[in-house]
Amino acid sequence: MSPAKTVKDYIRTIVDFPHEGILFRDVTTLFADPRGFRMCVDQLLAPYVGVRIDKVVGLEARGFILGGAVAHQLSTGFVPIRKKGKLPGQTISQAYTLEYGEAVVEVHEDSMQPGETVLLVDDLLATGGTAEAGIKLIERLGARVAGCAFVVDLPDLGGRKRLETMGMDVHALCA
Ligand code: 5GP
Repeated sequence: MSPAKTVKDYIRTIVDFPHEGILFRDVTTLFADPRGFRMCVDQLLAPYVGVRIDKVVGLEARGFILGGAVAHQLSTGFVPIRKKGKLPGQTISQAYTLEYGEAVVEVHEDSMQPGETVLLVDDLLATGGTAEAGIKLIERLGARVAGCAFVVDLPDLGGRKRLETMGMDVHALCA
């Protein structure tokens, strides 16, 4: 009998995407598989069962797929953090540095209340720049980040250290 599949087994690596020299972790194969997707969502939320979470916040775009499923399971609300110009209501913005240049993410200013407790969800943690920008937005609204959950952590890129230095609890399913 072959050993049981893990979350990592459902993720494929695409060579040279989106640029030459990049090994892209493609989670669409994980999302497309009924066993893989359920396993992944169950494992992402496991540390937070019984913990007070008011909102799950998902980072665009794969964080929406995961975050929506996690929010449903935890019976919480879901809040999207989107790239600049996509949200229709009043927003606050946070800039962050990319490998080449700068990006801006936004959240609706009425999407979280001061004192609420939030779980941040995304598919992958690399340098941690995207997650850090998300955490800053959440904290600027007066909410508290109870945890940051990722499917993949690429530890060589320093994201986990960066978030832990900010006092964050980082939960990842595979490297
Ligand atoms: P960071 O800001 O931590 O450097 O990059 C993480 C963000 O970039 C996440 O929102 C993630 O979706 C995206 N990302 C970067 N590299 C990859 C990758 O290889 N695979 C996937 N699925 N997403 C990636």
